[in-house]
Amino acid sequence: MPKSRYDVVIVGSGLGGMVAAVILAKEGKKVCLLEKNKQYGGNLQTFVRNRVIFDTGVHYLGGLAPNQNLYRYFKYLGIMDDLRLQPMAEDGFDRVSFGDKEYGIAQGYERFTEVLSQAFPNEGPALEAYCKLLKDTCGSFPLYNLEDGAYSPEAMAGAASTVIESLTNNPTLQAVLGATNFLYAGIKHKTPFYVHALAVNSYIQSAWRCENGGSQIAKLLLRELRKHGGEAYRAREVVKFIVKDDRVSGVLLNDRSPIAGNTFIANMDVKRMISLVGATHFRKAYTNRIGGLEDGISAFSLYIVFKPGTFPYADCNHYHFNTPDEVWSAQDYTPADWPRGFMCSFTLSKNQGRWAEGMTCLAYMKYEEVAPWAKTFHTTLQANGRGTDYETFKAEKAARLLAAVERKFPGIGACIQNIYSSTPLSYRDYMGASGGNMYGYVKDAADPMRTAISVKTKLPNLFLAGQCVGMHGITGVTIGAVLTCKEILGDQVDLVGKIVGETEAFT
Ligand SMILES: Cc1cc2nc3c(=O)[nH]c(=O)nc-3n(C[C@H](O)[C@H](O)[C@H](O)COP(=O)(O)OP(=O)(O)OC[C@H]3O[C@@H](n4cnc5c(N)ncnc54)[C@H](O)[C@@H]3O)c2cc1C
Repeated sequence: MPKSRYDVVIVGSGLGGMVAAVILAKEGKKVCLLEKNKQYGGNLQTFVRNRVIFDTGVHYLGGLAPNQNLYRYFKYLGIMDDLRLQPMAEDGFDRVSFGDKEYGIAQGYERFTEVLSQAFPNEGPALEAYCKLLKDTCGSFPLYNLEDGAYSPEAMAGAASTVIESLTNNPTLQAVLGATNFLYAGIKHKTPFYVHALAVNSYIQSAWRCENGGSQIAKLLLRELRKHGGEAYRAREVVKFIVKDDRVSGVLLNDRSPIAGNTFIANMDVKRMISLVGATHFRKAYTNRIGGLEDGISAFSLYIVFKPGTFPYADCNHYHFNTPDEVWSAQDYTPADWPRGFMCSFTLSKNQGRWAEGMTCLAYMKYEEVAPWAKTFHTTLQANGRGTDYETFKAEKAARLLAAVERKFPGIGACIQNIYSSTPLSYRDYMGASGGNMYGYVKDAADPMRTAISVKTKLPNLFLAGQCVGMHGITGVTIGAVLTCKEILGDQVDLVGKIVGETEAFT
């Protein structure tokens, strides 16, 4: 049972909440982490079908080689040494394909340029310019480089597709460089280049897959939290933030029990946070701005269990489109031409051999497609089902996506033992994500500050963390949580100095 009072109460055990919980517990705070689901971790959750482990929201990680940014953050958090990881293919951790033509995205900037120069022999200077721009852009975000200081708003200017188009006139190379935009749900001429750079740079530095899924990150963070005296409770939904005298005094759980605290972190969709606190406690301009932010697109996920010994395992992901044009228009699909592209990633088991056990295929899906079932709610804790018409909808979509996957991998159908699928409603119900968004709200290069959300709120003891604030992804959310903790701890604690100091010996 949770106690009645803590120094810090964190609502939502997604990565951001867990990272913040460990940092603050390490700093001697009495921390309580509350999660509404049966499983901790939000998008770090895994599930098992036919004894195969599937990830819901982590297919690969970047920046985990010694001395790289996520390696050092995870080292500080105490989880790096126990993470079970496998490096992905050096010459093509991601493979981009249009029809039959395939291009490798290699690890390390030199190799990256070398491999793509072989496919585009006249584009060496453009590739060099692209790499320089990626590095310069990432260099403008101090915490990304374990440095203190603020980033300059200029680093946020320019849309990813526009910047890429300015570097080369070759439409196929433009498409190859933009093809992994599923990583950040990129929108043509809208998603900022810095979002592209921060996401892509991590993987070019080094790309890794988790053995038996990304939930190990959540389990290890939980271990560290408890080691430092913190507490975590699952199946505890916060249904209200209690506000008294312009401060949050406590939260109310779904069983109506209150928990009081000095400081609160909402690691959840910010629109949901506002409804749980009450819009009247914020400025109208704030609630209007947040309410007006566009939810990022969601996904349809197809989980494939292979018959043993039939489909070869590959240590790479595939981003596939019929034509290069589809790279930046995959979100604009119509039900008739869905899916315009998809991403595939293999499950990596502990004793991975030659054969794949499972594969996840992801394609964009708009929330409006599942609107007919918007009033249903289904999770493992509240298993209501959504009705047979929903199951028919899912089966039709799964068949369409599978047909597209089969065009990329002829013969895959004969290797399949079972398929499972999920829709935007799963992301909505499990994560509490508005409209089932995969990565938070749409960011707009034309007005980056309008779509930026501070970790501080008008209520002085309520802070935000998670992918709706700052960058999404494992690296982005980890760094965002460090920023949240910096704000809470104040200038008297040199948090970045401590992280650097504690991890320097390992570099
Ligand atoms: C399909 C998909 C694939 C992805 N692939 C990758 C990848 O390969 N690599 C990568 O780096 N990133 C990937 N990401 C992104 C990454 O997983 C996320 O950015 C990150 O995990 C989000 O963390 P978060 O802290 O924002 O919390 P979330 O994961 O959003 O979790 C929020 C948590 O808060 C809980 N919660 C919400 N409301 C309440 C409440 N009222 N009371 C109690 N608890 C509550 C929810 O139950 C949930 O557990 C992927 C995401 C998706 C959707």
